[in-house]
Order: sequence, then C-alpha cells, then structure tokens
Amino acid sequence: ATPMSIMVASGRGAQMGVLFRDAAAIETLRDVDTLVFDKTGTLTEGKPALTEVQTYGRERAAVLAFAAAVERPSEHPLAAAVIAAADAEGIVIPTVTGFEVAVGRGVVGRVDDTDVALGNLKLMEQERVDTGAARDRAESLRARGSTVMFLALNGRLAGLLAFADKVKPSAAPALDALREAGLRLVMLTGDSETTARAVAANLSVDEVHAGASPEEKASIIRALKAEGRKVAMAGDGVNDAPALALADVGIGMGNGSDIAIESASVTLLKGDLAGIVRARRLSQATVTNIR
Ligand code: ADP
Ligand code: MG
Repeated sequence: ATPMSIMVASGRGAQMGVLFRDAAAIETLRDVDTLVFDKTGTLTEGKPALTEVQTYGRERAAVLAFAAAVERPSEHPLAAAVIAAADAEGIVIPTVTGFEVAVGRGVVGRVDDTDVALGNLKLMEQERVDTGAARDRAESLRARGSTVMFLALNGRLAGLLAFADKVKPSAAPALDALREAGLRLVMLTGDSETTARAVAANLSVDEVHAGASPEEKASIIRALKAEGRKVAMAGDGVNDAPALALADVGIGMGNGSDIAIESASVTLLKGDLAGIVRARRLSQATVTNIR
C-alpha cells in the first residue's frame, strides 16, 4: 500500500479505537485466516467476581484473609476479586512474605508461619495438596463457566473459591461476523477445560485449548503457522505476551497489561472484539484501494 493510504487507514483506525503499530500490521491483517483469542479479559470482561467460598476445616473469614493476603501483591484480575471480597466483608488482610507468582497457576507466600498456596489444580498438584474433598463441587462450578481456585494452608486443602466473569456483550456478534467471514476461531486459555468449554458453548468457536501455560499458548500459535495458517492472536495478559509476539498479527487489549500491548502490533483501545472486525475491513479496504 502507498504511504498515503496507510496514513488514511491508521487515522480511520484511531477514530474507531484501533491502533496499528506500523504499516505491516495493516497489510498483514488482510490475509489472516485464523483468529486465536484468550478467554479471561479478552472474551470476558476480565472483572471476575467471587461467587462462592467452600471451607474445609477452617472459618470462612480465615480462608478469605489468607487468600487476600497472598493475592495482594498480584496483578491478576482474580486477585482483585479476592481483595474486593475480603474488603467487602471487613476482613483485615494480613501481610505476606516470600510472595511468588506461579504464572498460569496461582500464587504462593507465607503469612506468619503458615505456607499459603492459592491457585488451580496444577498448582495444588505441584504443592502435593489433596483436593479430593473439593473435586465434585469444583467440577459442577466449572460446568457453569465459573473459574475455580483452591486455597492450601501448610499443604492442606482449606478452601475452594469460585469466580464468575461475564462474557463481553460485543463478543458474540464479533465472533459471528468473523466466522461468517470464513475465519477459524480458536479459544486459548490457562483456565480449565470444563470452564473453557462452558464459556465457548454459546459462542462461535471452532476449537478450545485449555490449561495452556504461556509457553503452550505460544506453541499453539507456532503449530498453526506451521500448518500454513495466517494467524492473528488477541490477548490481554502477561501470559499472552509470547503468543502475541509470535502471531502474524498480535492484537492487544487496551484494558490489558502493558506487556501484552507492547507485544502486539494492533491495540484495541476499548478492548472490544468488534474492533477486530473493523480493523480487518480497514485492512482489506486499504489494500484494495491501491490495486
Ligand atoms: P487466561 O489464559 O484465561 O487469561 P491465566 O493463564 O492468567 O488465564 O490463568 C490461568 C489459571 O491460573 C486461572 O484460571 C487460575 O486458575 C490460575 N491463576 C492465575 N493467576 C492466579 C492468581 N493470581 N490467583 C489464583 N489463581 C490464578
Ligand atoms: Mg487473559
């Protein structure tokens, strides 16, 4: 495309909240035949709310206090939900030491002399915590599309926390339009298989890959490219950054983390998937103009 048509396209894009990093981003988007997208924060609002707490041999207030303590230094949307719930119940959040993030799994730390681990089944397996008592409840919550995390204190299961996160109202029509345009639509998430399938059930989604670490997200992009696909990846999180960087077109959500935006070549300011439909049309119009 000519420099002029690229300038026009980036100006139009900006007006509708779609920022292209460079001319290549505008031109490549036209040829994309596969859209991969993250679930949490991309398809969903990314504002999960705590909907249920189950306790195992501990008081609810203690479960929430330990959970909030170990989430306080975290930047994950699930962390914000835990803190908000603890605050709403007037719980004093204790100080955590030795805080560490297990990316795509959860968080760990110490409160006084208690070892605290909060996260998904993978984290519990890593910490050798027996979650048997919570298994059935966890699975029925996931089947409703909830995200489930477990709290372990000194290696013992103490709580189950369930979170609900609404699918963005713009997501369903945007995915419908993209499928209509012939794109293969792939959901990619670090969340569980059951939760991912429950969320995808009402949407135009061709494939679901769940339980994916940041490296696995990147491998899936690599595999699709190896099949000869032109791949766009939309994501919002730190865990999406390697996949965003590897895709033919990385699409960052304006409401997402800085590292996701930096790894992307297109940014959707409103974090709205409809922006992908518009960006694609703009890309096609730009190239057609100068031919
Ligand atoms: P997604 O790919 O859907 O954006 P992530 O890779 O960020 O999800 O997280 C995957 C899973 O890891 C979450 O569903 C949750 O179970 C767990 N997890 C990640 N971060 C945290 C955290 N700060 N606290 C508890 N659990 C977490
Ligand atoms: Mg995400």
